[in-house]
Amino acid sequence: MPDTLDQSAQEKADAFVGQQHLLFVDGAFVPSESREHICVENPATGSKICSIARANAADVDRAVSAAQRAFDSGAWSKTTPTDRQSFLLKLADALEDDREVMARIETIDNGKPLSEALIDVDGTVRFFRYMAGWATKIGGRTPNHSAGSQVFGYTQKRPIGPVGAITPWNFPLSMAGWKLAAPLAAGCSIVLKPSELTSLSTLRLANLIDAVGFPPGAVNIVTGYGAEAGAALIEHDGIAKLAFTGSTNTGQMVAHAAAQQVKPSTLELGGKSPMVVFDDCDPAEIAHGLASAIFFNQGQVCTAGSRLYVQRAIYDDVVQHVATIADEIQLGCGLATTTAMGPLISSQHHQRVSSYIQKGDASSARRVTSNLDNPGTKGHFIRPVVYADVDPNAAIAREEIFGPVLSCAAFDTEEEAIALANDSKFGLAASVWTNDLHRAHKTLNQLEAGILWANTHNPIDPSLPFGGVKLSGYGREMGPEQLDSYLTTHSVWIQMRGAVG
Ligand code: NDP
Repeated sequence: MPDTLDQSAQEKADAFVGQQHLLFVDGAFVPSESREHICVENPATGSKICSIARANAADVDRAVSAAQRAFDSGAWSKTTPTDRQSFLLKLADALEDDREVMARIETIDNGKPLSEALIDVDGTVRFFRYMAGWATKIGGRTPNHSAGSQVFGYTQKRPIGPVGAITPWNFPLSMAGWKLAAPLAAGCSIVLKPSELTSLSTLRLANLIDAVGFPPGAVNIVTGYGAEAGAALIEHDGIAKLAFTGSTNTGQMVAHAAAQQVKPSTLELGGKSPMVVFDDCDPAEIAHGLASAIFFNQGQVCTAGSRLYVQRAIYDDVVQHVATIADEIQLGCGLATTTAMGPLISSQHHQRVSSYIQKGDASSARRVTSNLDNPGTKGHFIRPVVYADVDPNAAIAREEIFGPVLSCAAFDTEEEAIALANDSKFGLAASVWTNDLHRAHKTLNQLEAGILWANTHNPIDPSLPFGGVKLSGYGREMGPEQLDSYLTTHSVWIQMRGAVG
């Protein structure tokens, strides 16, 4: 039972969760054509909490048609920049007003601690406000060309068209915000499919979008299975651009579908992000930062610092500090104020993470954590695990586990640390920990990752683009880079009257 104080927010959250949830298409909440549903469970208890509509290809087609109408008619695409800014700011205000309720819905559906769900809501509010500002800053260039004084040349930016977006279950609300704000600021309409495991906060956001009064079809939410609704969305020829966050395997399918229709895609995929710690650091001072880099959100973070490389002189000390923090982490229901770590998302994912722990135990690595207490057998709880002396070729050092499992190894030289850190098929994020500014810059410049931090790991800001290299994907979310990916650039050449050409 929740032991938090805001009972009325909890009652509102429970009332929302308990509904039979519908699709949001063309400005209305509608059942799926098949009338079929998908059961939703609370990952902390394993019990059924509600059901969501199961969209099929026909439902996706209906949603894409609505998005096309909102785009082609100009109902959304031709709204003035200040109107689009105003819609996004109103949505941010509505979300801020709904903060406590939304966070509780996210915690019930996803399992994360309420304190972390509140961080997600606040970040999403900030992100809508940030992108709202960009709606009024879009413009082309008037280049200083060499085609002669009779020619007026300029570039023009236009919204790319209806967007198809697919989001994962680890940060459901944040990912919905990331996928919606930039295309809406650009003037694109959108069809969004959240993960069927965690659709509730996105559906709550649809309620806010409806209340704010966005034109019908500007935003459409289709809930359903990836292999059914997701596949129909990525294959749909009415979509002009695809944006995806999830596994590398599914990302490859999205890229393939996009290539077949020669449409752009943005892929934010998995990671196996390294943290490189030099021996000028104080182990006690940095241990909490390192622990939170891997254990935040139960380790279900694409940028999670899942590989820790520490210079030999302080290696044992750092590893022991992080393992002690891991052993003290309080697991439980996300609504309890004492909880620092919730359950994993599903029994399937629990099995997947457990299988990596079995591989780790069977390997030459040394398990440093010792606490085996688990809050119960019903929820999908897993205790954080720290392995030391991990062989760089071991599965736990190479593959994305997406759970609270940390692989550690010692290094001697800077060159060795960089080689270890870059020895991965992924390239999403990396961090360096040192008090030497020169060494921080020098090391960061050599790390193969799209997001680089020094003396921290995981912070984000709407102004700094987010995305990877190598198998972690391509394209960027956040910042003007994301906005630009929803715009096409057109060159305009005007020959002045009377001129030859
Ligand atoms: P998926 O890539 O399968 O899921 C991500 C999204 O893609 C979900 O909305 C899913 O829908 C959808 N999807 C699944 N199959 C298709 C398809 N054929 N066509 C279109 N959309 C599809 O990831 P999983 O949930 O299976 O997680 C597996 C692993 O992926 C994790 O263990 C982790 O390693 C990684 N992952 C990485 C994330 C990141 O942030 N980069 C986020 C989530 C997972 P639905 O869930 O409804 O089936």
